[in-house]
Amino acid sequence: MKILFRFILLALLPVSGNTGERGPAVPDYAADKVAEKIFVIHGPLDTPNPVNQGFMNNPGIIVTAAGVVIVDPGASVQSGEMVLRVVKQVSDQPVVAVFNTHIHGDHWLGNQAVKAAYPDAAIYGHPNMIELIANGEGKSWVALMERLTEGKTNGTTSVAPNKPVSNGDAIKVGNHTFRIHHYGPAHTTSDIMIEVVGQGVVFLGDNVLSGRVPRIDEGSIKGNIDTCNEIVKTGASVYIPGHGKTGGRVLVDVMITWYSTIYSNVERLYEEGQSDFEMKDEISAQLQDFSGWIGFDEQLGKQISFAYLQVEADAF
Ligand SMILES: [Zn+2]
Repeated sequence: MKILFRFILLALLPVSGNTGERGPAVPDYAADKVAEKIFVIHGPLDTPNPVNQGFMNNPGIIVTAAGVVIVDPGASVQSGEMVLRVVKQVSDQPVVAVFNTHIHGDHWLGNQAVKAAYPDAAIYGHPNMIELIANGEGKSWVALMERLTEGKTNGTTSVAPNKPVSNGDAIKVGNHTFRIHHYGPAHTTSDIMIEVVGQGVVFLGDNVLSGRVPRIDEGSIKGNIDTCNEIVKTGASVYIPGHGKTGGRVLVDVMITWYSTIYSNVERLYEEGQSDFEMKDEISAQLQDFSGWIGFDEQLGKQISFAYLQVEADAF
């Protein structure tokens, strides 16, 4: 009797962290072919909002002889379900593996949909990402997405990677090999970049964006520059940013220009005794080529302050 009563109580409780109804389906987006058997769904460039329903990243789809591999299945269970529908347009094989590029929830909360449809699929991520989720960061991202989309992502839960991977790891799926690149803190502390070996293709995560200024407040600007310099050593020809259009090596070089301009100027102006808020006009003038990027004004000041802290720390 006691057990039955407890069961009824549990059944009456709302699903954890989720008070509203399940959010609506995300409409299908096109899969753009970027290389042989490799596709990217280029999401909108805006930050998560009720109109894009949180979907605004670049999920990757690689069709191997042993099944489909997905990179970053999106911001919610609904985004993940959309990615799975698009997968079916390019392959009738099951999804066998997922890579998550970093901890930011717009990239990986779609894991839930993959796990539901393909329970045996391996989900790869950096150990720091797995640890952050174990410490509650996944739940925070679920709540943030619900708030930013006004409930359009309701029903989403945090499904963490179950296979840790580190720099240099090579994962074979069918006739494809995926090499993991990680060079310390960059966009975050948990970034991995995924090279599709022999195909000249690299998934950069948010270490490189195009058309939008990255948020960087937990990684390292200097580290992000180093990471960019390392990844071009692959000699790849197709670079897929975390947000924005896929392109050639120039995408990485442009990102290096952005971060190097900020870092070198903050270093110089710090030496001259300026405080971070005094530096913005001068640095902004040097970055006018980026003034059309989404988040330019909002993120530039934050990045100068972030660089300032790193320059200050290096000075001691
Ligand atoms: Zn990110």
